[in-house]
Amino acid sequence: MRKPIVVGNWKLNGTLADNESLVLGMLDGMSPLEGVDVAVCPPFVFVPQVARLADSTALAVGAQNCSEHDNGAFTGEVAAPMLADVGARYVILGHSERRAMYGETDEIVSAKVKAALAAGLTPILCVGETLEEREADETEAVVRRQLAAAISGNGIQSFDRIVIAYEPVWAIGTGRTASPEQAQDVHAFIRGQLADHDAGIAQSVRIQYGGSMKPGNAADLLAQPDIDGGLIGGASLKAEDFLGICRVAADTVGKQ
Ligand code: PEP
Repeated sequence: MRKPIVVGNWKLNGTLADNESLVLGMLDGMSPLEGVDVAVCPPFVFVPQVARLADSTALAVGAQNCSEHDNGAFTGEVAAPMLADVGARYVILGHSERRAMYGETDEIVSAKVKAALAAGLTPILCVGETLEEREADETEAVVRRQLAAAISGNGIQSFDRIVIAYEPVWAIGTGRTASPEQAQDVHAFIRGQLADHDAGIAQSVRIQYGGSMKPGNAADLLAQPDIDGGLIGGASLKAEDFLGICRVAADTVGKQ
């Protein structure tokens, strides 16, 4: 049985005041939520604030990126041990926006996964194809390559401390969601890739779907056998929408 996991990616949004009301709104509705891991990932500067607001609650905090280095002359970077030090438990790595806009290669992402694991953080490793790649029938090749880099850089056993997020790039922030069947096919493919190395790890690793997930489409996606939760962008900026998805995850994942 894999425990569902729902994580909010706030991207470049938030103020001290907005974060406070958003987190308090989430905490308000969270007490009846059992059987689902829940986290939000604000911009770096707000991680300590959200960690303090969510202290001793079921809401965990993560970051949206980290450096592959622990310290040194890397102006503007934030290291994984620093994030752990201020209360982060998760870090999203290899998000398609980082890959596309900040030149993060598979090798850099793999090095970041290593740094996050060494700091005791749970990496959320994002993989997924662009629309062009899907239309060229390259989805499996792209996802295989992205996974292979992280496996060869960190070893298959490290995946017992990694969460994977399958995020088709064409579904992120577009309102266009992968159909449950399209998502399930790729999730099963990802599990199969891991199973080529270790069947036990493949069965236990949690694979989130990300890409325009909302309370209204979450149930069909989360009912798929290999979808274990969601990485949520836009809908994580509204407490009610985010909680709605968390409730669906608690009620749906593993219950078929
Ligand atoms: C994301 O950025 O990881 C994401 C899934 O965004 P959205 O839910 O807005 O598509």
